[in-house]
Amino acid sequence: MANIINGKTVAAKIKNTIKEQIPLLEHQYGRRPSLCVIMVGNDSANQGYVRNKVQTGLSIGIDARLMALEDNISEAELLKIIHVLNEDPLIDGILVQLPLPAHMNEERVVDAVAKNKDVDGFHTLNVGALWQGTHCIAPCTPKGIIQLIKTTEIPISGKTAVVVGRSNIVGKPVAKLLLDENATVIMAHSYTEDLKKITLLADILIVAVGKEKIITADMIKPGAIVIDVGNTYNTEGKLVGDVDFEGACEVAGYITPVPGGVGPLTIAMLMINTMECFLSHVEANTDVSKLWDNITNARSGKD
Ligand code: NAP
Repeated sequence: MANIINGKTVAAKIKNTIKEQIPLLEHQYGRRPSLCVIMVGNDSANQGYVRNKVQTGLSIGIDARLMALEDNISEAELLKIIHVLNEDPLIDGILVQLPLPAHMNEERVVDAVAKNKDVDGFHTLNVGALWQGTHCIAPCTPKGIIQLIKTTEIPISGKTAVVVGRSNIVGKPVAKLLLDENATVIMAHSYTEDLKKITLLADILIVAVGKEKIITADMIKPGAIVIDVGNTYNTEGKLVGDVDFEGACEVAGYITPVPGGVGPLTIAMLMINTMECFLSHVEANTDVSKLWDNITNARSGKD
């Protein structure tokens, strides 16, 4: 029976660590980290999720705020607002919730956010830096996936990792982060012939497709670490992942549930990215590694 990787517990430890750090940082730098989340329109599916990001920030001491804009705002007006936030020295992180209304060019809007305030890690320059292996803000979900794998304490280095899905927000960046951890990475997508043959190679299997039960037990190598990124509502209105969880539990060594797996880590990593941006703004020679030392200790339960 697989060990369940509890994303809620891992995320809670990370958030608590940040919560403990913030008063110390405020004392040292005279202000708290700040985050502005911009939501355009009233997409009800998005609203709860967006508010959760802001609420989570506030609950741990980040000065988080929501800027809710009408869906008929023009792209030019939105770009002006982003520009003002870019110039504001008291704003550390800016997140523009996607998708944007059809009359806007998402790429242009995402690239309007200052690179060093781009807490989503979607700016072209951050994506380029990620692939170049230079300093970047890495996107939240892939960063969270790496944290979840690390909770197993099984070294990633040398393992075969299969990533199913090649989107810009999950599949591609997580493949690069796994490569940075010295995994041997294989990427699968909708054109992959014989998906099962590929997934059976995986010591670490990341599935980010958005199709219920695309991965069944017979496609999993015994003992593998399975990270289910999928997050869709099935015909019964139930939130489901991409992996047949019950079946997979019989074969996998470790597995993330949906809900309660990757989702909580995505928000925890947004908080981390806000902290990293804050540290880079308050000090030229920021030592972000100290923050990560604390997070690592929190993950493994050390003091
Ligand atoms: P996406 O942009 O729709 O990409 C889906 C990927 O799946 C594509 O690369 C596609 O291949 C591939 N695919 C589709 N059918 C396939 C098949 N039969 N076999 C193999 N690959 C197939 O999706 P996304 O934005 O990455 O999101 C994926 C899932 O993760 C969604 O359910 C989303 O809601 C969820 N998600 C969760 C979080 C979280 O925080 N929990 C964050 C982000 C996303 P092609 O490229 O060939 O089309």
